[in-house]
Amino acid sequence: MTLPGSPFLAYQGADLFLDDVPLRDLVKQHGSPLYVYSRRAMLAALAPYQRALQGRAHLVCYAVKANSNLAVLQTFAKAGCGFDIVSEGELARVLAAGGEAGKVVFSGVGKTRREMRLALEAGVRCFNVESTAELEVLSQVASEIGRTARVSLRVNPDVDAGTHPYISTGLKGNKFGVAHEVALATYRRAASLPGIEVVGIDCHIGSQITEVSPYLDALDRVLDLVEAIEAEGIRIHHLDLGGGLGITYTDEVPPAADVLIGQLLAKIDARGHGHREIVFEPGRSLVGNAGVLLTEVMFLKPGEQKNFCVVDAAMNDLMRPALYEAYMSIVNTQQPDGATEVWDVVGPVCESGDWLGRDRALNVQAGDVLAVLSAGAYGMTMASNYNTRGRAAELMVDGNQVWVVREREAVADLFKLEMLLPV
Ligand SMILES: *Cc1c(COP(=O)(O)O)cnc(C)c1O
Repeated sequence: MTLPGSPFLAYQGADLFLDDVPLRDLVKQHGSPLYVYSRRAMLAALAPYQRALQGRAHLVCYAVKANSNLAVLQTFAKAGCGFDIVSEGELARVLAAGGEAGKVVFSGVGKTRREMRLALEAGVRCFNVESTAELEVLSQVASEIGRTARVSLRVNPDVDAGTHPYISTGLKGNKFGVAHEVALATYRRAASLPGIEVVGIDCHIGSQITEVSPYLDALDRVLDLVEAIEAEGIRIHHLDLGGGLGITYTDEVPPAADVLIGQLLAKIDARGHGHREIVFEPGRSLVGNAGVLLTEVMFLKPGEQKNFCVVDAAMNDLMRPALYEAYMSIVNTQQPDGATEVWDVVGPVCESGDWLGRDRALNVQAGDVLAVLSAGAYGMTMASNYNTRGRAAELMVDGNQVWVVREREAVADLFKLEMLLPV
């Protein structure tokens, strides 16, 4: 049986291993549900980015929102990465994990004044500004504290990334970025404002992109703008081409990162922009296939129309299926002999939308441990406490080593910030 995604995940005999660790044993030791990530798999996913960019000024800024566990951030910081953040909280995590503020780019349509000030004081490398209104406020905040905000405008190239509407961000109807038509005027405004220094341009057209062509189209649009901006005497130092590269959840065949980057660099060079620093902001493609969510089967509930396999992980642990109807592969961590049946794998939360997989051919029994694959990105970071369920523990493995990198949330943690009324 071949598994989608990671070469670090494979059956040895009947048992599913991540690196050299049998996954079922981890649940016996650490309980269920449980997120497990492979450090090797993360570094292996980073390698083609670094390889393709070698020999030119570049920065790979890992998009923290994909998986913000401190040990994950530490892994990428040690590997030389910068970070793409979208909040004060993510900045604090990056610093706590040993990341450098000078390698941080700050994205997002709704940065608060407080977040701007904290990021300026920390010395982030660049603000990816998404509107004129934000630019004006950033100029005020920077001037007030006597700092200069280095900025890049996130331009909306109006290309269709060919992905799910909720994760497509580069079309006109999206809330993100400055429309292509007004970008030049916004750059002029930026160049005139106190406390603002223009340093780059960026775009991020969506997520789970499995084709090269939308990137190439967006790049052409961005380079057109760069040429128009520089014709007015405003210097653009770096090109930030965002993140968004897809992964294999089932049978998608996204381009390898080095192939994608090779094609982008060829266009950049061909159009005479080869001297610019190149920034990428990958999230999913660095961590998605490096992680699994393990969950124990509680009850089998065969029915007339549907067979339900009730597991102890739910939409609060892993929201992607409920939110995007995302398909995530589900396998048994102990491949049993015998026939499979078709099951809907569902959680205990009181919502019909609480399912992890529909119509899955599985050979399962109560007490088995299932692995939801490709759960390293947008899994734990989207987890909630809905139904007053504590969030799962997280483990990191490397070879045969295993570290707990986040403890399971206890029930007492869940309402410790609440209080009863005095009367
Ligand atoms: C989410 C996001 C990313 C990362 O996207 P992936 O699809 O996870 O690679 C990069 N840049 C920005 C601005 C984002 O919002």
